[in-house]
Amino acid sequence: MKKHLFLFALLTGVIGLYAQQVYTRTTKLMGSRYDISVVAGNREEGNRYIDMAVQEIKRIEKMISSWDPSSETSEINRNAGIKPVKVSKELFDLIKRSLLISQITDGAFDISYASMDRIWKFDGSMTRMPDSATVKKSVEKVGYRHIILDEKNQTVFLERKGMKIGFGAIGKGYSADKAKALLISKGVKAGIINASGDMNTWGTKPDGSPWTIAITNPMDKKKAFGIFELRENAVVTSGNYEKYVVFNGIRYTHIINPKTGYPAHGLLSVTVFAPKAELADALATAVFVMGKDKGIKLIDQIPATECLIVDDRGRVFTSKNIHVNTKPNR
Ligand code: ADP
Ligand code: MG
Repeated sequence: MKKHLFLFALLTGVIGLYAQQVYTRTTKLMGSRYDISVVAGNREEGNRYIDMAVQEIKRIEKMISSWDPSSETSEINRNAGIKPVKVSKELFDLIKRSLLISQITDGAFDISYASMDRIWKFDGSMTRMPDSATVKKSVEKVGYRHIILDEKNQTVFLERKGMKIGFGAIGKGYSADKAKALLISKGVKAGIINASGDMNTWGTKPDGSPWTIAITNPMDKKKAFGIFELRENAVVTSGNYEKYVVFNGIRYTHIINPKTGYPAHGLLSVTVFAPKAELADALATAVFVMGKDKGIKLIDQIPATECLIVDDRGRVFTSKNIHVNTKPNR
């Protein structure tokens, strides 16, 4: 009898396992496209989990948005050069990690890039290159060393008047990590959070095989550079094929070199693999600014982190532990 019961339990377990399916929703959050996929037993359960992820991402947006005047981030920016602002532990820690990334990238990644956003516009409204004096002036207010954190009082102070911080290069990755962590805590066995190319995965497909992603060839978006398996891992691509301006035949991307005030150029896309989407997001932006040689050197020094770079001539470069078929397949 006992044996029968055991067999029955085993069988329902196996059937239950196979009934698991991937449920996906595409939605706009933080001004970007998000594709949220979860593995669940039925559509209703899947929807419930996706709703939770959406709520979590909205909560983060409320904290880090520079557009929303009621966000903690806006409060910090309003008080630049005036006074330190007490913030939540969560935002304090995010800024602290952002400063660490600034240090390891020698300032190529810098959340205080944000005061330069009035000069470069990537929505088609720019008709000519700004003059060099204007660009030079724009970097005066940039510099992560002038973001002062007070651990004891949990405050953030931007030392210079007119300074601003923004999470454009790390916020999507952070939100993907947080949504993933929340769903794992609710018992979701597997899923993918894809925040416009900032991807974070966990678990496997319902049939037990790993999630795979195809990396787009920026020279021809219909082609891919091969398929990569992702296990409990994040992958982020920063590309200049979506937001950019062209002056004198040079394509300038929406990623700006905080030292010069000029947009980065020379690379078409940077893909970074890392344990967390937040780190991958920030590093992809940094490598864009640093360029191929310095960028790969940096990535090679960071454990469990790899990158794939395509330059503006379509040449592919990778960090030491990944090997790709550089002839685009499919
Ligand atoms: P995407 O938005 O395509 O995912 P990124 O993650 O590279 O690309 O983020 C680019 C955004 O980050 C820009 O639109 C801007 O808001 C911000 N940003 C630009 N340059 C820098 C920089 N050097 N350091 C930090 N953030 C930056
Ligand atoms: Mg980024």
